[in-house]
Amino acid sequence: MADYAPILAWIDAQQPRMEMLVSQWAAINSGSSNIAGLNRMAEVLMDAFAVLGQPLNRVALPPRQIVGADGRMVAVPLGPVLSMKARPQLPLQVLLGIHFDTVYPANSPFQQVQRIDSQTLCGPGVADAKGGLAVMLVALEAMEQSSGAVNIGWEVLLNPDEELGSPGSASLFLDAAKGKTLALLFEPALPDGSLVGARKGSGNFVFVVRGKAAHAGRDFSAGRSATVALSHIILAVNKLNDRQPDITVNIGRIEGGGALNIVPDLAIARVNIRCRLPQQQQEIRQQLDAIIRQADQLDGITVDLHGEFHAPPRILDDAHARWFNRAAECSRQLNMPVTWRESGGACDGNRLSAAGLPTIDTLGPVGTGIHSSAEQITISTLAQRAKLTALLLLKLAHGEFGIP
Ligand SMILES: [Zn+2]
Repeated sequence: MADYAPILAWIDAQQPRMEMLVSQWAAINSGSSNIAGLNRMAEVLMDAFAVLGQPLNRVALPPRQIVGADGRMVAVPLGPVLSMKARPQLPLQVLLGIHFDTVYPANSPFQQVQRIDSQTLCGPGVADAKGGLAVMLVALEAMEQSSGAVNIGWEVLLNPDEELGSPGSASLFLDAAKGKTLALLFEPALPDGSLVGARKGSGNFVFVVRGKAAHAGRDFSAGRSATVALSHIILAVNKLNDRQPDITVNIGRIEGGGALNIVPDLAIARVNIRCRLPQQQQEIRQQLDAIIRQADQLDGITVDLHGEFHAPPRILDDAHARWFNRAAECSRQLNMPVTWRESGGACDGNRLSAAGLPTIDTLGPVGTGIHSSAEQITISTLAQRAKLTALLLLKLAHGEFGIP
C-alpha cells in the first residue's frame, strides 16, 4: 500500500482555508431563483477551482417550465452549470458533483454566516452544500498531488438547480454518468456522520382545477367551484398516505379563489410524493390518474395534472454495497468510522444510481438544521470528509480496489 500520510496531513493543514472558503461562499446568496447570486457564486467558484489546473466551463441551461399562479405554464430562468474534466482519455473515470444553489431566496432573513463556537459554523448553505464544495475541491487537490493521479480521470459537475429537483441539469448528470466507474456527491452527511444508503424517490405534482365563475349571490347555481372540487381531490390524494407506510404525500401548497362573492373558477394544489420502490411510482401515478378521472366527471370541472417523479428511488444493490464497504474501510483507517443508513431525502444521486452508476452522495461535512435558519456544520468534519474522499480516490487510483 502506498504511503498516503503526507497527503492526508496536507488536508489537515487546509482546515482553516476550508472554513474560510465555506464562510465566503455561504455569505453569497445563491437561492435557486436568484440568478444574479448564482452567477456571482459561479465566478467565485471558477476562481477557487482554478487551483486544479483546468478552467471550470460554464454551461447555460434552458429555462424551466412551471405552473404559474394563473394555472398556465411559465418559463423561469436557471443559473449556469459549471464543469471541468481531467484526463478524459483514461478508462478509469470518476464523476464528482454537487450543487451550489440553496433553498434560501434573495429576500430570506437568513443571510449571515456566524461562528457559534470553535466547532460550529452557522449560515445559509454551510452544510447544503457549500461545505461539500470545499470538501470536493480539497480532496481533488490532494489526489492530484499523488503519483497515482495519472491513472485516473475525473469530471466535476456543479449545478445551480438541485433544490428545484435539477430540472435543467439532470440530463447533464446522466450524460456525465456514461463511462464512469463511480460517482461521488457532496451532500451533507447525516448528523451522526453516517452516509445515506438507500434513498426514497421523489416527485412533484401540480393539480390545476378549473370551474366556472359566477356571482355568489345573483347566480350561485350557475357557478362551478374549483376550490370545492380541488378539496375533494386533495382529500383523495392525501389518502395515499394510508396505503403503504413507505409512501408519503405532502400537500405542500394550495391556491384558489379570490373575492368572496365570486364562485372560484381556478384552484391549484402543489404536492410532493415520495416512495421507496420503483414500482410504487407507477402505482401512484395510476392512482392519481384515477382520482383525476373521477373529478373530471363533475359537471363543469376540468382537472389537469402536471409533474412527474423527478428522482427514482435508490436501492442499495451489490455494486453500491461494495462501494459503501470500501468507503467504510477508508473511514476506519482514518479512525473516524462511518456507516450508512436510509433516508427519505432525494438528490442527484438518485438518478445516477438508477442509471446504473454506483454513487456515494453524502461526502459533505456533518451538518444539522439544513433547510432552516439553524443550518450549521461541525467545522472539523470539513477536513475529515476531504480525507475520506481523498483516500477513496487515492486507493482507486493506485489500483487497491482491483479496478479496472
Ligand atoms: Zn443539497
